Amino acid sequence: MQRLVIVSNRVPPPSGVAAGGLGTCILDALQDHDAVWFGWNGDLVSTESEITSACARYDRLTQITMPLTERDYREHYLGFCNAALWPVHHCRLDLARFAPGCIEGYRRVNLRFAKEVMSRLRPDDLIWVQDYHLIPLGSNLRALGARNRLGFFLHIPFPPPEVLLAVPEHLWLLNALCSYDVVGFQTNADRQNFFRFACGHLDGEPMSGNTLRIAGRIVTAVICPAGIDTHSFSEMAKSRRAAAEIERLRRVGEPLINIIGVDRLDYTKGLPERLRSFRRLLELYPQNRKATTLMQIAPPSREDVQAYAQIRQELEGLCGEINGQHGDVDWTPVRYICRNVAREALAALYRGSQVGLVTPLRDGMNLVAKEYVIAQDEEDPGVLVLSRFAGAAEDLREALIVNPYDLDEVAHAIQRAITMPREERIERHQALAVRVRERDAHNWMAEFLCALDIDRAPALSFELASARHRRAARHAWMAPRPAPAISSAVL
Ligand code: ADP
Repeated sequence: MQRLVIVSNRVPPPSGVAAGGLGTCILDALQDHDAVWFGWNGDLVSTESEITSACARYDRLTQITMPLTERDYREHYLGFCNAALWPVHHCRLDLARFAPGCIEGYRRVNLRFAKEVMSRLRPDDLIWVQDYHLIPLGSNLRALGARNRLGFFLHIPFPPPEVLLAVPEHLWLLNALCSYDVVGFQTNADRQNFFRFACGHLDGEPMSGNTLRIAGRIVTAVICPAGIDTHSFSEMAKSRRAAAEIERLRRVGEPLINIIGVDRLDYTKGLPERLRSFRRLLELYPQNRKATTLMQIAPPSREDVQAYAQIRQELEGLCGEINGQHGDVDWTPVRYICRNVAREALAALYRGSQVGLVTPLRDGMNLVAKEYVIAQDEEDPGVLVLSRFAGAAEDLREALIVNPYDLDEVAHAIQRAITMPREERIERHQALAVRVRERDAHNWMAEFLCALDIDRAPALSFELASARHRRAARHAWMAPRPAPAISSAVL
């Protein structure tokens, strides 16, 4: 049977909390599949000689993981991925750091991962590489002799070319990206930026539809918005445990209105701006005092990168300021929780909140927005306030779309959400729920794999595919299949 081989920087445990969109989306999507997942296990060792890979099997999923060295962690993970690529892709050149030597660490880890994958590869494996940490992995695999179909999905935004030019060795990086057969993006805007770069700064030539000829090869660029497993999430939100949690929420502090924000503690999430918008709400609409609470759940991430330590300090300072200035003995305006929360509890908190506040300054997709929608009670749903700079805003048009930099605009939108008549809430929620279900984690994977596995899905045109086609595509992929004839001469 043909295997799906996924490679990502970090492999999360198959159960439990994965505070990050990539882990959530892949774990949700893999429920129906046999797959092998390669990546870092989260451990660090001192020297390369101590690196050994381990294999673990969980139902239909095999995870092959290995540690990084401390130097890899510093240079590849913190140095190049998180201090250089992450800010650049989120248009934060002011925070980007291109420390000497880090790109070598990035090359080194990508080559090591490629060798590990290569050593276990079968000729008919479909390989799907995930995210910006591993852009050169595909070209490494090709150089090592892999003739398999290679796909890559970018979970974060693809910035305008003018911004990407700031990355040292951007031509090498982008040429490596073009060595995949299929490259997937979250939004149309991301794909357009990719085409602009490939045609304006590499020798890319647009072909029909979503393909590009570059360096004698054809690259297909698809849009597959990441999603969640809507069925299991909505079941969680309706569970008895969730109901008990919501009841507890109502008893503690007794706010009439609860606004919820759930984000990794990251400067791209617009957390200080969000708190300032909430403060504006209390100033502009003082009737919310003692009646409305913002619950912000923000587990720390990447604390070894300076910009992350700073954002945490700023956020905690603002929480203290707002609570000190506006709070009272019987009311805490901002409840700030700085740790991971079990997924069931999150689902309950979303359901028990009248407003979901998702206001990143820039975000590849944002699964929290989708989780909030799906967790709602259909008869009495809350309202999603969503940043126009989240990838999710391309689809979730019935949310209250805001500019997160405009504090007054966000404050007015929150007030509109709080006071929105029930019929309007239901109408908006119905439309949003349809879109979130249509674009769930399973369809994300099915659409990408159909583009990658062209022998089995030659006629699918994904941009035009209706929901019916997408479901059919999903079932085609899930059906048992004969040994495929994948050949490197396909393109
Ligand atoms: P990103 O990938 O940038 O972190 P997303 O919104 O796409 O952002 O995905 C975040 C994922 O992590 C969601 O599934 C969300 O439920 C989960 N998550 C975020 N914060 C927490 C938390 N405190 N506890 C548990 N899960 C969290």
